[in-house]
Amino acid sequence: MPTKNAHHYLEVPRQEPVKKRHDLRIQSFGEIYTQYENNMAVSQANRCLGCGVPYCKWQCPVTNHIPEWLKLLSEGNVIAAAELSNQTNSLPEICGRICPQDRLCEGACTLHDGFGAVTIGSIEQFISEEAFRQGWRPTVNVPPTGKRVAVVGAGPAGLACADILVRNGVHPVVYDQQPEIGGLLTFGIPPFKLEKEVVLRRRAMLEEMGVTFILNHRVGKDTSLGQLIEAYDAVFLGLGTYAMRRGNFPGEALPGVHQALPYLVSNIRHHMGWMPDGQEWVQFKDQDVVVLGGGDTAMDCVRTAIRQGASSVTCIYRRDEANMPGSRREVANAKEEGVQFIWNAQPEAILGGTAVTGVRVVSTEMGQPDAKGRRTPQVVPGSEQTIPADAVVLAFGFQPNPAPWFTQYGIDTDETGRVLAPAESQFPYQTTNPAVFAGGDMVRGSDLVVTAVYEGRQAAEGILQYLQAGISQPAAYGNLSGESSPCIR
Ligand code: FAD
Ligand code: SF4
Repeated sequence: MPTKNAHHYLEVPRQEPVKKRHDLRIQSFGEIYTQYENNMAVSQANRCLGCGVPYCKWQCPVTNHIPEWLKLLSEGNVIAAAELSNQTNSLPEICGRICPQDRLCEGACTLHDGFGAVTIGSIEQFISEEAFRQGWRPTVNVPPTGKRVAVVGAGPAGLACADILVRNGVHPVVYDQQPEIGGLLTFGIPPFKLEKEVVLRRRAMLEEMGVTFILNHRVGKDTSLGQLIEAYDAVFLGLGTYAMRRGNFPGEALPGVHQALPYLVSNIRHHMGWMPDGQEWVQFKDQDVVVLGGGDTAMDCVRTAIRQGASSVTCIYRRDEANMPGSRREVANAKEEGVQFIWNAQPEAILGGTAVTGVRVVSTEMGQPDAKGRRTPQVVPGSEQTIPADAVVLAFGFQPNPAPWFTQYGIDTDETGRVLAPAESQFPYQTTNPAVFAGGDMVRGSDLVVTAVYEGRQAAEGILQYLQAGISQPAAYGNLSGESSPCIR
């Protein structure tokens, strides 16, 4: 076991787990980072200074007890570290893999500037993986209360809500329209960032704890929200945000132009053997591919296209690299894998007739910062050029898509379509229908896995308080006409 002294952080540099060589990793869709060996994980954990004020913890959305679990690991107590880690985070093995740590915990580490932050994310992942390998599983230690809550959406928000409910003796029944749990973890994020087996293993653990999943089941079609409100003690909604932003320029409807999420999902389904009958795998072998956008979704598309054997992959973004929203780590990975970037270029039109031939762009310069401090790109007149392309992917992000049935059940949204479910209220994350709570992307707008986990957990606390207060169930809004659904458990 590596020993620790006061100067350990000076003697042992920050070292991330080994990353597979770029020319090898682009030949498969597997995760690109390998797992720490035990000695390496302990040695890296030993770099923690144990600061009096742990800024890393306060910058982590779920306020993980980071210095405490690093210390437990240093002392050789990985099971206790996993117990502690799973107390504050419902998906630590997943957040450890895909949180943008440079903006969160690691960005706040005292060693970040000068010595290299403690590799908090990789160690968080190691602790859970090693504990699972040794046979440890999260357990429920309270008797059942007899209460039942319907959770709609098996994404990170819904899973985190179910995790807290079941740990408090409440039976969560989770509905999702997809054939597998995970939301965007499964049907969005590519396997080179998160292998799907990791999500399937968490499903087995949640089922073992007492969570019921009802999949291939769309609320609003197969069962109404009103039926759930009647049948359960409360309902949680974690439906995500799925309306794709458009560029609003000519050529977006040409054959060969694809929206980012359906493209990524098609590739995941193909590789997992989950492709529904009649749907085709979208793939770009031997094609020149242009991806428009600069966020994490764009990075996932360019790296998927590279792995599909595209001849060239170019990412076009209208701001400069410093103002790109995508995680620095993912941009660096994309560059290593052979993606070309054109910064400060704004698409004006996608060109072609029966097929795409290129994208006409105009150069931009960075102007004054906007209200959020981001500098606005200004078009440079006369700077048009055409980038040749056989396929174009639009990755402009997502906006809320409130369900048409929200109003029927008294669920209000703000002017952008986000469901109103305030954190600061008598019962946190309660919507304007008292029996219905909500969290994750549908409440905060498209964001991160860890923030969805946080909101799902906080909403579960709100639900527990609501159940404890024993407020009688308000009548469900709308006409239920006495129907009952075969899928209400
Ligand atoms: P979702 O994950 O969207 O889950 C919502 C679930 O609700 C879905 O399973 C959906 O099927 C279900 N649902 C919706 N309507 C119904 C209905 N009527 N009936 C039944 N079920 C329904 N975040 C990171 O932190 N790191 C990353 O690297 C990262 N990469 C990303 C890459 C891509 C391509 C995308 C699109 C997002 C990425 N994100 C990343 C963001 C992250 O995935 C989301 O913020 C997070 O998944 C939101 O969780 P959620 O539970 O609110 O919603
Ligand atoms: Fe860091 Fe994310 Fe883990 Fe929090 S959940 S410690 S932000 S990797």
